[in-house]
Amino acid sequence: MRIEVVTLFPELVAAAAVHGVTGRARERGLWTLGLTNPRDFATDRHKSVDDRPYGGGPGMVMLAAPLDQAIGAARERLVQNGVSAPRVIYMSPRGEPLRHARVVALAVESGLVVVAGRYEGVDERLLERAVDLELAIGDFVVSGGELPALLLIDAVVRQLPGVLNDAQSSVEESFVAGLLDCPHYTRPEVYAGCAVPAVLLSGDHAAVARWRLKQALGRTWLRRPELLAARGMSKEELLLLDEFRQEREGGKNAR
Ligand code: SAH
Repeated sequence: MRIEVVTLFPELVAAAAVHGVTGRARERGLWTLGLTNPRDFATDRHKSVDDRPYGGGPGMVMLAAPLDQAIGAARERLVQNGVSAPRVIYMSPRGEPLRHARVVALAVESGLVVVAGRYEGVDERLLERAVDLELAIGDFVVSGGELPALLLIDAVVRQLPGVLNDAQSSVEESFVAGLLDCPHYTRPEVYAGCAVPAVLLSGDHAAVARWRLKQALGRTWLRRPELLAARGMSKEELLLLDEFRQEREGGKNAR
């Protein structure tokens, strides 16, 4: 997959191509990162990329023209590399809340252009002309689209085939089955007086799988009940959740 990011701070976004899972995946040629700075398309001698808002008020607004040209250059690079109609995404708090299903859908595209805003945002006419999709990373505001773009890139790249070593690790994660992840433990067996749940030491794979599903159902029920409501539960899952609730009540009474 080819990802092009349009940003005033390319060095911030470049980190995705260097570190950790996404860095290794790029070294292995599973994706590429291109960076385009709208400042390179500014035409006045100050290299302006923003101006005061019509109607007054605080802050500055990103100019449409340098962004439009930067997006055009990024698209063109993708087209040259065989991506026929790359989608242009603008990271924005007003966008669609980013969720797992959208990440999976984007991971099958051959190329994407991701636009990071700054200041109060960008001229609305640029969004209407050049942007296909707006995505939000949460109901809060950060000062630029670079960190949101990094989140999107990381989430999408780890869904690409071959990126995660253990094929299972992207299958058993939070949200994949519409549930939050189960708890994880590693050595030592007793830490600060707390023992690892015995079933995890039993070597009984079916019992471990059952326990993990029960914990995932229980956590989702406790923390994100709306996810369970949206997904529904099988008969066995209902029984497991019942067990979780009884064990929890039992635990409370024992204390
Ligand atoms: N005035 C805007 C916020 C601008 S913040 C508003 O209230 O909606 C500057 C830039 O940061 C935005 O252009 C956007 O690209 C990015 N940004 C900020 N919060 C974001 C979020 N929750 N999701 C995605 N992008 C965000």
